[in-house]
This record gives sequence, C-alpha cells and structure tokens, in this order.
Amino acid sequence: AAHIPSNTRTANLPTICRRYLNSDVRITRTGKPILTVSGGRSSLGGYTATVFGATGFLGRYIVNRLARSGCTVIVPFREEMAKRHLKVAGDLGRVIFIEMDLRNTQSIEESVRHSDIVYNLIGRDYHTKNFDLEDVHVEGTERIVEAVAKYDIDRFVHVSSHSASLDSPSEFYRTKAKGEQVARNIYPETTIVRPAPMFGFEDRLLNKLAGPTNVITSNWMQQYLYPVHAIDVGMALEKMLHDDTTAAETFELYGPKGYTMAEINDLVGNEIIKTRRHINVPRGLLKPIAAALNRFIWWPTMSADEVEREFIDQVIDPKAKTFKDLEIEPVDIKSVLYEYLKGYRSPSYYDLPPMTEREKREEKKYLHVID
Ligand code: NDP
Repeated sequence: AAHIPSNTRTANLPTICRRYLNSDVRITRTGKPILTVSGGRSSLGGYTATVFGATGFLGRYIVNRLARSGCTVIVPFREEMAKRHLKVAGDLGRVIFIEMDLRNTQSIEESVRHSDIVYNLIGRDYHTKNFDLEDVHVEGTERIVEAVAKYDIDRFVHVSSHSASLDSPSEFYRTKAKGEQVARNIYPETTIVRPAPMFGFEDRLLNKLAGPTNVITSNWMQQYLYPVHAIDVGMALEKMLHDDTTAAETFELYGPKGYTMAEINDLVGNEIIKTRRHINVPRGLLKPIAAALNRFIWWPTMSADEVEREFIDQVIDPKAKTFKDLEIEPVDIKSVLYEYLKGYRSPSYYDLPPMTEREKREEKKYLHVID
C-alpha cells in the first residue's frame, strides 16, 4: 500500500477487477471489452500487448506466453536479425513488428497506441557508443511512459532491477531507480517489476560461469544473490496482465534460495565436470581496464559498473510484493542446472539412469569415462 500514490485512479481497483478475473469477457480500465476465452494460439480476441525489449533474454519468455494464448503482440525492434525467433511464437499475424528508436517519439507512439498493456523490458548493463545508462533507463523510460499516458493505455508494466536505489554506488542501480520514479510520476498505475539475476538458456549468469573463457572478478565471487528462473519471471509478467489488482504495485521477483556467486560457480563446476580458471583482479585495477574495454571494444565484454556491482549484495525490499502474491512457486537454480548446462559438459561423460536409494546413500556418482 505504501507504493500506491494517493492520486491514483485505481483506488477501488481490487473490488472492481476481481469480479472480472474469471470471466470470459473482461472490461479494461478504459472500458474496453476483451474476449479472453483462450483456445490457444489460434483463438480470437485476447489482449493486444506491446513488449519493448522483446529481442533480449527475458523478452522471448513473455512474448511466447502471450502469443501462444492468442494475444496480439507488438514487438518494437531495432535490428532485423534480432527479432526473427519471435515471429513463430504466435499464429500468423499475431506477432507484429514495428521498427523503433528510443529517441524517436513517433515510433514509440506508433508501437503503443493500439495496445491494452505495455511492457518495458528495455535495459542495458553497460554504456554503448550511442546510449549511456541514463539514456536507456531514464530518458528512454520517460519517452515510453509519456506515450503510454498520452494514449491512455490500460496497463504499464516496467521492468527495473533488484537492488535499484537512488543512492547506490552503481550507476546501473541508480538509473534503474530513477527510471522507476519517472514511470510512477508520469503514470502512477505503473506496475514495477524488479527481477533478481535471471538464469535460463540465454542468460548472462550460467553461460558466463560455464563458458570457455577465464572468469575474471574483483570480489572473489562473494556477492550474494537470489537467482530467479527467467521462465518464472515470464509467468509472473503474464499473470500481471490478467490481474488488474497488480496495477500500481511493486514486485520483487527472486528465487527461493540465496547463494554467493562462488557457490553458484561450484554448482556449475560440478555439473559440467570441467575445471575453469578464475582470476581475481583488485577492483582498483580492474575498473579502469573494464572502462577502457567498454569504451574501445564494440562487443559486450565487461564494464566498470559491472565490477562495482560485484561488491553489492542483492537487496530485498520487504514491502514489495513477491511471487507468493501471484501464486507462483519459484524454482531453485539447483533443480534445473543440468538442463541448462548439459551442453557445456565434456563429451567424455554421459548419464546413466537415476541412482537407486542404495547408491544415493553411498553417494556414488554416475560418470562414465569413454576415452
Ligand atoms: P537484455 O540485455 O537481454 O535485453 C535488453 C533489451 O533492451 C533488448 O531487447 C535490447 O534491444 C533493448 N535495448 C537496450 N538498449 C536499447 C536502446 N538504447 N534502444 C532500444 N532498445 C534497447 O536484457 P534482459 O532480457 O536480460 O533483461 C530484461 C530487463 O530486465 C532489462 O531491463 C534488464 O536491465 C532487467 N534485469 C535483468 C537481469 C538479468 O539477470 N538478466 C537482472 C535484473 C534486471 P536490442 O536487442 O536491439 O539490443
């Protein structure tokens, strides 16, 4: 309740919207009737949703869920090749691409104006040649929210970050917090989502730890985090569409268990059965190197701010809502690690059927060396 601004138009929201939660026809905040009977990806009716940042890691998990339930999904994109995999998420004509530039207000307005809900997943971990973090997280958000408010879109869901704070030593967390403020100021019913570090097939957590390159850190992998499954976050974002009581709320979506990065690194090592080299470089040395790399190299490497973030443990806001409020049971990273890492395993190993109780007691490991 602390997050609901006093001037919000949604004062009576819980009582109004719960009535429509299980109906075939729902009435949106602006009075638009939506046919929600879902026969899968070919069904008629459904919401129209715009997903900014759909070409990223998390994007596919929400576009896929929306499109397969028959919603029409508008995908603003910058790069032709980056969006191709999303086309097949929905039936013919249900995933619509619009070319967009974060500095081109007209393209943003065209992307949102026919929608019932807008998701903003746009974010960047590091400065790029044309956009710094402030441009992406604050100014970009401002342009999107202004378009949302101008066309009176029913819902706006803004994806921020865990640990977002105005006085954080990390510029990423600071600009994410500013972005939240901007969104709430312009559109008070904004639903803010703060995901924990996410894992999945295309993540930057497991893939980095399991990859063939040396892992370079500054804090001896001591940062503490609650990793969350990207599929769970996608599920939560979809639920927010169907439950208007989530408007004007802040959600922190984190996994059920906390780990230090070193613990996750050990789990990864056990799963891929390979030794990888970990190099620890003092912060004072690594930060300028990372800043220079980020400046002169045009592919994603490491940024000075990412080094800074290693020294910040994930902060959990006790006032924020969580998966529990959405009736979702988040998955622990341990239980799905094999699925995501089996591709990194040496081909010299393969798995036999699950262990018997006796073998489990004796802690025998099923590993077979072929060569
Ligand atoms: P990705 O980096 O995979 O995707 C980011 C998306 O934002 C891409 O679609 C990218 O478009 C778009 N984008 C970035 N900069 C711009 C720009 N200047 N103009 C237009 N589009 C831009 O992020 P994730 O999917 O991993 O994360 C989604 C959101 O969640 C982000 O806001 C991120 O900050 C946040 N988050 C992620 C965490 C994680 O562990 N992954 C943890 C906490 C928060 P394009 O493909 O064209 O580059």
